[in-house]
Order: sequence, then structure tokens, then C-alpha cells
Amino acid sequence: MLVNDIKIIGGGSAGWMTAATLISQFPHKKITLIESPKIATVGVGESTLGLINSWMTLLGIEDEDFMSHCDASYKLSIGFENFYRKDSGQFHYPFGSPYIEENIATLNDWYFKKFLYPNTPVSDYAECLFPQMALVKQNRIFKNEQNQIPSFNFKADVAYHFDATKFGLWLRDHYCIPKGVKHQKAEVKDTKVNDDVGIEYIVLDDDSKVKADLFIDCTGFSSLLIGKALKEPFESFEDVLPNNSAWATRIPYKNKKKELVGYTNCTAIDNGWVWNIPLWSRIGSGYVYSDKYISDDDALLQFQKHIKKGDELEYKHIKMRTGTHKRTWIKNVCAIGLSAGFIEPLESNGLYTVHEFLLRLVRTLQREYVSQWDRDVYNSATKTLFIEFKEFVAMHFALSHRDDTEYWRDIMNRLYSNCLLYTSDA
Ligand code: FAD
Repeated sequence: MLVNDIKIIGGGSAGWMTAATLISQFPHKKITLIESPKIATVGVGESTLGLINSWMTLLGIEDEDFMSHCDASYKLSIGFENFYRKDSGQFHYPFGSPYIEENIATLNDWYFKKFLYPNTPVSDYAECLFPQMALVKQNRIFKNEQNQIPSFNFKADVAYHFDATKFGLWLRDHYCIPKGVKHQKAEVKDTKVNDDVGIEYIVLDDDSKVKADLFIDCTGFSSLLIGKALKEPFESFEDVLPNNSAWATRIPYKNKKKELVGYTNCTAIDNGWVWNIPLWSRIGSGYVYSDKYISDDDALLQFQKHIKKGDELEYKHIKMRTGTHKRTWIKNVCAIGLSAGFIEPLESNGLYTVHEFLLRLVRTLQREYVSQWDRDVYNSATKTLFIEFKEFVAMHFALSHRDDTEYWRDIMNRLYSNCLLYTSDA
């Protein structure tokens, strides 16, 4: 399959990140993004991981270019609160490596300390091993240009909190369109499937038929091309990750100096967990839960109680589809973003899968001619990435010992056998 004419369907952050990546790496290919002016983007996705820096570097994007346009702030860590027991408190998972002087200390020394002094709080682990925790604790950031903190690489280890919708729009206006991406506002209302090529053409709302060498499905949870048209089976993660719903809101700062912290905080509550993401001009917050254990209305009340807010804020309800399509690249259709799959928001994996899939897509398209073997390798690599991350996220729940609600008791008694090399059924 020769790939010169690429049509990206969908203008959420996945769509524009795809367009930006392709135009930066393949400026001579014809890249078009088609998005419906009527179907809204998912409108969340505010916390990223440090690996986004490799993608930014590939595209030549500097912090100064986009941060002020996207309500961005720096993120150094993720805090987890009350996941272990109801009032077990907070511990951090800072970015960067643990600082271990060769032959002097090992990671296990901390467990020895905990053994000798059982009252040592678990929060001490990160504070002991990650000097960059001093920045998190003091709410500071610095570029570490003289390598004062040897285990901390500012360029690679610091991630961002940003408004993903604004980031998509920034990419559109300041990166993609100036570099030559064609932008078309139209809704795909039909698809013509062909067993040999995949999708022969799509039909837009003005009845025009559009062909492409490669269609990239960035249509979000609706998964229009890979799911609805090609009917690729969807493998759910519900067995280990029960959350399927969220309420999201935006909270104005009361005391910005104190509240604009350099980390995303995740607090486990009765039927799931709440994110707190401090952007530059506001806080993003949301409650991720399973509607099997609580109604949407009651979940909203629980969320409002937790954030100590009421109807003065606007709340958006989101239904999530967690799992992944068996394959994400079939014939001339490749899915990137929520259309390919989603784990759940814990550990900020949504945009992470977007940029990591894109790095693999670039590697494949560099071959010019794409064979079935190339697609198989791509599918295997992206599937591994999804499954490993799913298992990592599932561990946050599997390790919980909460038993204060039916939700947490069920979590504690679930079988996480798919996430372990060895399990017993006992
Ligand atoms: P969308 O934003 O839904 O965009 C879909 C696009 O497709 C839209 O432009 C729409 O108009 C278009 N479209 C749909 N149908 C058609 C059609 N028929 N014709 C033409 N166009 C069409 N990720 C993170 O990295 N960090 C987070 O903190 C985070 N939090 C999240 C919290 C929740 C509750 C959820 C659900 C997700 C979260 N994510 C997070 C994931 C993140 O939001 C997404 O990965 C990211 O926004 C990409 O979305 P998308 O572009 O795939 O889909």
C-alpha cells in the first residue's frame, strides 16, 4: 500500500496531534483533516506524562510556543490519596528516577527502614528516594540546568497540565494549517467498505465521496471507521477496570498561589476516584466511577460533596468506553485516540497512547510502501502498549484494601489474574 494521501477524520486533540505529526515528518504528503462542526470533542484530558516531551521534540515544539495559549502549567508528580484504605492519606509518584548512589543504597533500603520503623508513612518512600519531591513539596519548579538534582531531567521528566481542547486548537492554527494541512468542516455520514482495501470512500454530509490511501480514525468514542464501518471487535477492560462514567467540572482558584500545585492529585472516594488538575487559570476536576454501584445523580452529589461545591459550577457527564479494538490498523484504516481504545483516566494515559501510537505510525510510514507485515508489527506494538498500561492502572485498584463500600469490596475481591504471570484461584 502506497501512502501519499492521508485523511484524518476527527478534530479532537488526537486528530490535531496526528495532523501535526504527519505534516512535520512527511511535508510532501497530502494531509487533510475532516471534522464535524456539529459533534463536540470529549472536552477533557488535562494531564500528561513526561514522555510527551519526546513527541514535542520530534515536532520542534517548545514550552514557550504553546503553554500560554493552552492554559498550561508544569506537572512533576501524581499524588494518590486514600487508595489503600479510606483514610490512608497521600503518597506521591514523582516523575524522574530514584536517586541511588552506587554501592551505597538500593531501593530495598527503604523497605528495611519501614521494617525497623513500621510507623514510617508510605509517603516517605518518594520523599526518601526522589530529591525532586522537594520541588513538589515547596510548590516550586526549576530547570536543573547545573544538574543539582542528578535524578531529575527537566526536559524529559516534567509533564504538563493543559486544556487538551485548546492544545488541539493551538496545533491547528499555529502548526498544522501554516505547514500545509488542509482542514475541512464536514460530517462523515456514510462509508463504503471494500474487502480488499478497507474503506473505498467516505460520504460527507454534502454527498461528496472522499477517497484516501490511508484514513486515520480520530472520531473519539464513536469509533466511526474502525468500529462501526470495519466492525473490528472491541475487547473490554471491564473485568479489571470497572469505571465507565465521569462527572467533570472547572473550579476557579480561591488561593492560586497555594492551589496551583505541580502535580495531579487523585483521591479515592466511595465509588471511584476524583482528579484535581491545576491549570494556569483554573482547576480541572472530575469524578470517575462505575454506574453499576451508584446512579449518575447520586454520583454528582458525592462529587459535589467532595469538592465542596454546588450548582454554581457547570458539570459535564461523560460515558466512557474502556478497552481496545483487537487491531487498530486494518487495511487502509488506522485508529488513533479514543477511537482506538481507552483505559480510564488514572495515570493520564489517553494522550500518552496518542503520542506513542503516532511515533510508531511515523516509523511505519517512513517505509513509504506499507505491507501487511508492517501493519501486524504496528498492531502488536500498540496492543502491547495498551495491555501493559491497562495492567499498570489495574494495579492501583488491585493493591487497594478498602472495604468501606460495595464498590471497593468488589474491587478487593476481583480476580486480576490477567495482570499477573502467576495466579492462584484461591
Ligand atoms: P474527541 O475529543 O472525542 O474528538 C472526536 C472528534 O471526531 C471530534 O472532532 C468530532 O467532531 C469528530 N467526529 C466524530 N464523529 C464524526 C463524524 N461522523 N464526522 C466527522 N467528524 C466526526 N487523557 C489524558 O491524557 N489525560 C487526562 O487527564 C485525561 N482525562 C480524561 C478524562 C475522561 C473522563 C475521559 C473520558 C478521557 C480523558 N483523557 C485523558 C483522554 C483524552 O480526553 C483523549 O485521549 C483526548 O482528548 C483525545 O480525544 P479524541 O481526539 O480521540 O476524541
